Amino acid sequence: MDQNQIDEVLERNNIVDVIGSYFPLKKAGSNYKARCPFHDEKTASFVVSEKKQIFKCFGCGKAGNVITFVRDYEKISFLEALKKLASRAGLTIQQTKVNKQKQTKRDLIYKIYSIAVNYYQENLQQHGTFAKKYLEDRKISDATIKKFQIGYALDSFGGLKNYLLKNSINEQILQNTGLFTANNNDLFKERLMFPIHDHNGKVIAFGGRVLREDQTGGKYVNSPTTDIYTKGNELYGLFVTRYEISKKDFVIVCEGYTDFLRLYENDFTNSVASLGTSLTDSQVSLLGRYTNNFYMIYDGDKAGRKAAVRAASNIIKKGYSAKIATLPETDDPDSFLLKNSRELLQKIISDAKPLSLFLLEDEILGLDKKAKLNELIETLNEIEDEISRELMVKEISEIFKVSEHAIISKIRKRRPRRDGITNNATLVKVSEEKDILTMILNDKLKYKKVAQEIDSSYFFTEIYKIIYSLLLECFEGMGQASGLLEKVDDKIIQNTIAELIIEDPPEISIEDAINNLKLRKLQRELVQINELIENDSKNMELFSRKKELKKQILKINKKVVRKTLY
Ligand code: ZN
Repeated sequence: MDQNQIDEVLERNNIVDVIGSYFPLKKAGSNYKARCPFHDEKTASFVVSEKKQIFKCFGCGKAGNVITFVRDYEKISFLEALKKLASRAGLTIQQTKVNKQKQTKRDLIYKIYSIAVNYYQENLQQHGTFAKKYLEDRKISDATIKKFQIGYALDSFGGLKNYLLKNSINEQILQNTGLFTANNNDLFKERLMFPIHDHNGKVIAFGGRVLREDQTGGKYVNSPTTDIYTKGNELYGLFVTRYEISKKDFVIVCEGYTDFLRLYENDFTNSVASLGTSLTDSQVSLLGRYTNNFYMIYDGDKAGRKAAVRAASNIIKKGYSAKIATLPETDDPDSFLLKNSRELLQKIISDAKPLSLFLLEDEILGLDKKAKLNELIETLNEIEDEISRELMVKEISEIFKVSEHAIISKIRKRRPRRDGITNNATLVKVSEEKDILTMILNDKLKYKKVAQEIDSSYFFTEIYKIIYSLLLECFEGMGQASGLLEKVDDKIIQNTIAELIIEDPPEISIEDAINNLKLRKLQRELVQINELIENDSKNMELFSRKKELKKQILKINKKVVRKTLY
């Protein structure tokens, strides 16, 4: 899409007029207000800024520009919203350009998956008597079936293939989709089909569950890795629940499709399923965009507990908080909620324990106290963030009644040597990073100054790092800041950008803001150098690096107005 065309559409459609044509807006100071159209509310928390051409809801957190508003309000595609606004302003979007855009292989595979989803859904309605009965027995409502696009694969070798060919899909691409066997037969036969969506809601894979216990093949058949899907990168349900996760500021992580759907049916709408035995690093990072607080609710048996411990350990290593909820040994969240009330599970979740306490009390994993401590020290060794590590040492010491000194001495012995300064660990949102982004998004002149001095390595919060890299790439040649939203298709990133634009910048000078950022990076490096020196106390190079760092810190410290530091 041509950036000039988008800029022109933004330029010619005043957000206040456009939103005001859907429902009335009330003037409030320099902004406009209304009840939010994206969530139920009695008071008006939906704010539109004419000056910044951005809307934001302070209730549900949704934010965006005029194009994303029309897209989300009318539930149409970005391109459709763009065309609609173009014609409203008397502009024509050059169709040919759009059509001529070469459809990449990935786009084609996405398209095939969206056709396949329809096919499986139709099958469920028309031929899925047995599958429907199964869903009914599990008390999965029609609304949930629809929302998560659950379907049914017929007991047929070529049902999906023929359906795709009828929809003018070229046979050659089929082998790249992961939906067919090497002989070009349908991979999924006689199974209940759970589509796996990416976090933006595009279907990218399937999990197929057997319907009868005597059926051949595994209980689940899952899509293989394809051009659009990598196992262990996605979370089931996230595309629906991410706003709630962000709003409630915690996520409930379960293992399987049916656990997730049962939780969702019971109003635990900030859940996801990891769809594997544990939670991978990339899944942790993905969830870290929405919250720092993870609640694991895995199966109550030994395998489930083992997986929960591994997952919690992965979460802690990345600097987030993890708690483990304990179910009875014979239950998973699904079976538990079929027998018990929602309130009882709510209580189990509220009683979830930090990893060390969970391990101390556990009697099912068959570990003695020493093995439990070793498990925890493994985790400690991997925590990059100094403060998180210190907090955990304290916690273990209190819970296991071992001195902090004893724990620390174990870490030192076991900590692997690191040979460089790499630390991407702290993902906790940091105000210095937010400050500088708010300032440059609200004043382009400031952007130039920052861009000259700061690269993206100064950002440690993943989402801010992404946004800053984006700014470096394209802010220079852009019109309004709100146009940035069109550069990304991740809605959470869009939301965050809109939030940064609508917020008023802090009252500090840009020089101070830059210095704050520099100072923080240097201080992090100093912590790391100190760690390296602990392991390698004879390395003179490290000492001279330390000295140099201290000098730089002192130099900036003199410049920085201390009161601006948090
Ligand atoms: Zn809202």
